[in-house]
Amino acid sequence: MDEKDLGNDLAKVLIPEADLQAKVRELAAQVDADYDGKDLLLVGVLKGAVMIMADLARALHSPASMDWMAVSSYGSGTKSSGVVRILKDLDTDILDRHVLIVEDIVDSGLTLSWLVSNLLSRGPASLEICALLRKPEAVTADLDVKYIGFDIPNEFVIGYGLDYAEKYRNLPFVGTLAPHVYGGDGA
Ligand code: 5GP
Ligand code: MG
Ligand code: MG
Repeated sequence: MDEKDLGNDLAKVLIPEADLQAKVRELAAQVDADYDGKDLLLVGVLKGAVMIMADLARALHSPASMDWMAVSSYGSGTKSSGVVRILKDLDTDILDRHVLIVEDIVDSGLTLSWLVSNLLSRGPASLEICALLRKPEAVTADLDVKYIGFDIPNEFVIGYGLDYAEKYRNLPFVGTLAPHVYGGDGA
């Protein structure tokens, strides 16, 4: 799926594909340097992190392991509650492992804060976070995100793993949707 397939559903492209790919290569180079000689386990948070996880992993020079977690943090509202449920746990025992959480976006940071304390209780050798996107509110969260792709404005974004109602994850760029897609203008 690409820009032309969206027609007038697309409001704007926020981060073009080439910028995403360049940034992922940059992040991979930092990760390679920081984990030199270490056995790295990438933990992708389903489903939003699928694209960044796949591209980051392929850009690494080390044979990193990959595992996945699925968590649910939203109730009926549109804001994180901080109450998180594990929908799919890791297959891997992370005791004494070097773990890097790979996330699509940090908004309130509540989901990641919960995930960090959950994973820390399992005794990893180290635990860091890589997030492709960060919204302004995340700055106020007590969360140390070591690797960040882009700081973005406080808008709802889709694409490159991020969905609206489970759609648009398969866009190669990050963008915003026109209001009529949300039913905002009655269209
Ligand atoms: P937080 O707990 O940091 O507030 O929420 C993080 C999760 O909410 C993200 O992993 C993502 O799934 C979802 N989320 C937050 N902002 C956006 C956004 O702008 N677009 C989409 N598609 N999901 C978002
Ligand atoms: Mg996510
Ligand atoms: Mg979502």
